[in-house]
Amino acid sequence: MITGEWITKMKAVIFPGDKKVEVREYPIPTPGPGEVLIKMKASAICRSDMSLYYGDPVVGGEKAKTGSIIPGHEPAGEIVQVGEGVHSYYPGDRVAVYLALGCGECSYCKSGYKMFCKEFQCIGFDAHGGDADYMVAPAENCMKIPDEMSFVAAAVSTDAIGTLYHAQKRLGISGRDVLVIFGLGPMGGAGVMIAKGLGATVIAVDMLDERLQVAKELGADYIVNGKKVNVLEEIFRITNGRGADAAIDCSGNAQAENNALDCVRPHGRVAWIGESKSTTIKPSDQFIRKQITVIGSWYFPIHEYEEIAQFIIRKKLPVEKLVTHRFKLEEAETAFRLFDERKTEKAVFVWE
Ligand SMILES: [Zn+2]
Ligand SMILES: [Zn+2]
Repeated sequence: MITGEWITKMKAVIFPGDKKVEVREYPIPTPGPGEVLIKMKASAICRSDMSLYYGDPVVGGEKAKTGSIIPGHEPAGEIVQVGEGVHSYYPGDRVAVYLALGCGECSYCKSGYKMFCKEFQCIGFDAHGGDADYMVAPAENCMKIPDEMSFVAAAVSTDAIGTLYHAQKRLGISGRDVLVIFGLGPMGGAGVMIAKGLGATVIAVDMLDERLQVAKELGADYIVNGKKVNVLEEIFRITNGRGADAAIDCSGNAQAENNALDCVRPHGRVAWIGESKSTTIKPSDQFIRKQITVIGSWYFPIHEYEEIAQFIIRKKLPVEKLVTHRFKLEEAETAFRLFDERKTEKAVFVWE
């Protein structure tokens, strides 16, 4: 229940475009059938939000381009009201929200991969997201948070942790592997943590010493600054000329995408997860002759969240270490400006 029935308005962020940020008042939404109303506790800012900030969204359809959708696709909070027909959630439940909306009927929706649905829409791009005091979400998009997990950790555990967990699961990362991670922003940092949890030896590659230092604190066994040394030579030196077993590019940078293909041994495995519009590769040399496996990976199927959350808790992953800045919603303009200027790593809106 909402305490104090006189509260009917909430604050929410809007990006009218061209790097403008407004915090506006809206009526608190009412959950319809199958929906829940969530009182927001933590909502993480993501690099993909910047495309909305600039008015040129990388995700979503026409609605995302209108500048009238509340952003925030990495939210966590407490359910305060449930709509008709919701029987598995109750007020007081702590939840994170899965970002993909689908038809609910096709094989992808039914198997938990709503992002492949033909009717895919993205929360925070096509539908109102979590950068608001309250949000309405379908109950089927809610993911229960274990008691041991903070709301901040839960928000970050959706996109950043979930994406890197799912990619490493698909690559079969284990203690047998030397894994190279390119790009040590929040995604790469999450990748280091997960790889260490899985027992791999991790080589972290970036151009910024500060990020590499964080990677080291998160458990990276080796750090390589691409501005100072030849990245491939260094990786082959570390692996005694053998090459890495696996690599993940989180940067979307063409050089790093190519280095990821070049640094792995024959039969190596590579994942590209950094968003990138185009790049040039050499198929014969880079993957045909070496018989490597290259995957693209994005987000995770919703049923995997329980496994992800349990992994975080069991392995005591220091998820909140990825968060360098916490802001109040009223500080949204500053928050997005600092994030855009890359003066923060993971930044999260927090309440209370
Ligand atoms: Zn995101
Ligand atoms: Zn569907």
